Amino acid sequence: MKITFIGTSSGKASLNRNHSSLLFTSEEYNLLVDAGDGISRALMSNGINFETINGILFTHLHPDHFSGLPTLIVQMKLMNRNEPLDIFIHESLKAVVEEFLIRSYLLPERKGFEINYKSFADDERFMITEEFSFLARKNSHLGNLEKFKDKYLSLSLYSASFLFEVGTKKVIYTSDIGTEEDLLLFGDYAPDILICEATHISPLAIIEKVIKINPGKVYLTHYSDEDISAISEILASLSSDLKDKIKLAKDGLSVEI
Ligand SMILES: [Zn+2]
Repeated sequence: MKITFIGTSSGKASLNRNHSSLLFTSEEYNLLVDAGDGISRALMSNGINFETINGILFTHLHPDHFSGLPTLIVQMKLMNRNEPLDIFIHESLKAVVEEFLIRSYLLPERKGFEINYKSFADDERFMITEEFSFLARKNSHLGNLEKFKDKYLSLSLYSASFLFEVGTKKVIYTSDIGTEEDLLLFGDYAPDILICEATHISPLAIIEKVIKINPGKVYLTHYSDEDISAISEILASLSSDLKDKIKLAKDGLSVEI
C-alpha cells in the first residue's frame, strides 16, 4: 500500500499546490480521501487515471475537501466508466451528498455507472477490504458552527479524524481539526504514520503532541503557502531524531506503508 499526497494546501487556493487530498493505492483497492475544489486537475497533475479510483472517503464537507466531487464524477462519466464507485460518508451526511449530486444533474439513470454509498458510523471500524479498514472519530473542527444548528435545521456537523489499518500497519490522518486535543483522539494507538494538518493548530503544539504519541513518521499537510517558511524554520530547528521523523509533505509525495 502506498499513500500519495494529491494535494497539501489548506482551504486557501494556491497557484502551485492542490487542496489537501490523499490517495491510498494497492493491488486490491484505490481510495481517495477527500475531493475538494480542483480535484480532477489535481489527480491529472499527479498522473492518476480517474478510472483507477475505486472509492472516495470524505472527512467532512468543507469545500476544499468536498466540492470537487460532481466535476470528478462528470470526468468519470465522460471516460465511459463502467465500474461502480464507492462513496464512504458518515451516516448523517449521506443524504446531503446524494442530494448535492442530483442537484448537479448527476442523475443515477444518466451516469452509466453505479455509486455505492457506504455510510459509516462514528467510532466503528469499517472494513474496505480484508486488509484495509478505517475507524472515524468525530473531532471538534466544526464545533464553532454548533450555534447555527437550530437556525439551519438540517445542518449536520460531522467532521472526523481517521485511523487507517493496512495489515498490521496503522496510519492516523487528523484531517481538519479544531483543537490540540483532537490530536489525541486515537491516543491509545501509536501509529506507524501520522498525517497531521497544520493550519488550525500551531506547529509547536503538533510537535509537543508528536513527542507524546510517538508515531514512526509524521507528515504535515493542509498548510497555506504563506506558512511554509515559518513551518520550515521550526522543523529545521528540531533535534536530529525529530527532524528525521517530522516532514512537511509536498504535492505528489508518495510514501510506502
Ligand atoms: Zn480544509
